[in-house]
Amino acid sequence: MRYIEPHAHMVSRTTDDYHAMVTAGCAAVCEPAFWAGFDRSSPQGFFDYFCQLTDHEPRRAARFGLPHYCWLCINPKEAEDPVFAREVVALIPQFLDRPTVLGIGEIGLNKNSRNELEILELQVDLAARHNRLILVHTPHLEDKLKGTRLTLDVLRADSRIDPARVIIDHVEEHTVRMVLDAGFWAGMTLYPESKCTPARAVDILETYGSERLWVNSACDWGVSVPLNVPNTGLEMRRRGWETAAIDRVLYQNPVRFLNQSGRFPLT
Ligand SMILES: [Zn+2]
Repeated sequence: MRYIEPHAHMVSRTTDDYHAMVTAGCAAVCEPAFWAGFDRSSPQGFFDYFCQLTDHEPRRAARFGLPHYCWLCINPKEAEDPVFAREVVALIPQFLDRPTVLGIGEIGLNKNSRNELEILELQVDLAARHNRLILVHTPHLEDKLKGTRLTLDVLRADSRIDPARVIIDHVEEHTVRMVLDAGFWAGMTLYPESKCTPARAVDILETYGSERLWVNSACDWGVSVPLNVPNTGLEMRRRGWETAAIDRVLYQNPVRFLNQSGRFPLT
């Protein structure tokens, strides 16, 4: 089945993963900037990472015939030092006009701290000034509900932000409704150990509809499954979903959201 992988940290995956994704039907992969599994020691480390996301990784993906797009930001896990974070954010504009950059992300909150909030606001402003899409990471487990509320407050306080151009990722049963009711898109991240499973994601789709939802594997350097988007398609098929309805969630929804960037040519 054809699908888009809208959120995958491919810099930490192997060529076998690229091969498996393409043969499973992946038509494009999008990679938000995130934590590398360790804290970078200088803003220069982020400069190199942004080069990797905008130049090296697209070329690696192209060897498997897979179009690669990215999002740029400093992630909330490394935004606790505002001076350091501001230096990193100042590096981003020089990369924004590279042809595969979809927007600003994944920004958001990790521990819901005051410093994280300050840098979230700074990056929402960056996106607004450059009229870019936003991809938001929401915190894990017990911090998720509060962090999602705080993030929505920041986004709604900025009159330049159109909710239809923002996706709030890692939603779960207790946060999906508030995201959709406020007009934002919602992403479900399918992890084997935490966050959503494919079965829970399909439950959510069957409860809330599939108008402004996408699914992603977020596959990174930790335990994760790069094929969890097609695995979700398989779960839908088991439950009797029509092929066209599966295609709408796994392919057409991400295309519809990402087309707004003006940088994502798939239709
Ligand atoms: Zn991520």
